Amino acid sequence: MNLGLYIHIPFCHRRCTYCDFYLTTNLSLIDNFVDALIQEIKLYSLKYPGCTVDTVFFGGGTPSILTTNQFDKIIRSINNNFKILSSPEITIECNPEDILGDTSKFYDFKSIGANRISVGVQSFIDKELSFLTRLHNGSDAVKSLEISVSLFDNVSADLIYSFNGQELCDVKYNLNKFLELGLQHISAYTLILEKGTLLYKEYERKNLLKTVDSDNPQFYEFVNSILNSNGYNHYEVSNYAKNGFRSKHNLKYWDFDYYLGLGPSAHSFIGNNRFSNPKSLKQYTDKLSAGILPVETNDTLSATEHKNDYFISVLRCNGVNFAKYKQLFGSVFMEDFKIVAENILKLNLAVADNDSLKLNEKGFALADEITLGFLQ
Ligand code: SF4
Repeated sequence: MNLGLYIHIPFCHRRCTYCDFYLTTNLSLIDNFVDALIQEIKLYSLKYPGCTVDTVFFGGGTPSILTTNQFDKIIRSINNNFKILSSPEITIECNPEDILGDTSKFYDFKSIGANRISVGVQSFIDKELSFLTRLHNGSDAVKSLEISVSLFDNVSADLIYSFNGQELCDVKYNLNKFLELGLQHISAYTLILEKGTLLYKEYERKNLLKTVDSDNPQFYEFVNSILNSNGYNHYEVSNYAKNGFRSKHNLKYWDFDYYLGLGPSAHSFIGNNRFSNPKSLKQYTDKLSAGILPVETNDTLSATEHKNDYFISVLRCNGVNFAKYKQLFGSVFMEDFKIVAENILKLNLAVADNDSLKLNEKGFALADEITLGFLQ
């Protein structure tokens, strides 16, 4: 069995107001967490002996908070416990303030094994960054990306767009900065007001929730046209890559392949099981120090859930591969979903050939609505 490994590093310098990821700002707990993580790696290597790993993704939280020593311990443990296939993709998410605060650490990360860096830039405009309560400013964003590009051959950055008060010219300014810097990969997300976040509560208090338009199609089309015309392939609803630089790890999610999530709140998908760890660092470390895997939820998918999950995953990226569909579900996709498939093809929302059916640019913009047509 081949797996992608996701490692959730649940620490940040402070919480951004729009963020709903599980994390803590108590950095004194990092060493304990790393010990627990190493224990979790060992326990899973015993549970899945002989499994191979070809991607490792450090997400968070802020993985760039780790010291060289902590990162080294984790990578050594992965290498010692899993069989790593040749040329694995090893991504580390970083924030500009960490890159600028201790640049030498990133040389170490690279020599230890990281070969892809994903930088949480979000914007180059100071007023937007301060609205998002990020710790960096526009000039930090540029400098940190210049360093990243000089160090790594595979650099991705995140952009957040389409929020209150933003004009199209602001999005253009941000995209142009990315283009000047020559990144290999860009993830562009609209700002989503998640319930429970500090920003959501603030908007609720000021009765502003109705005014939020986080899904402006004009902005989405604009981002697509600029990035497409500059050599970025729009390969997933929110992701764009130069040739050969799609995120191999994230493709595991979108191609319905298996992945193992480690760290508090991390999710896994193996066989027809989805399981997850608790959103509590204490419960996570307590369980592991007692030698127990910290799994909190463990659901075996019914046949219907399995198929629904398949469509939710694949339609936002590479679409339905007919051979894989037959292998998973034992039937012929174009017979099972003839009417829905013909409809979206007729409406010019998808393209199909002998091997697959895939949403096109127009279809990506309506991916959620189209997916509903395939769910049972
Ligand atoms: S840096 Fe990222 S993970 Fe940390 S609080 Fe901000 S958005 Fe969330």
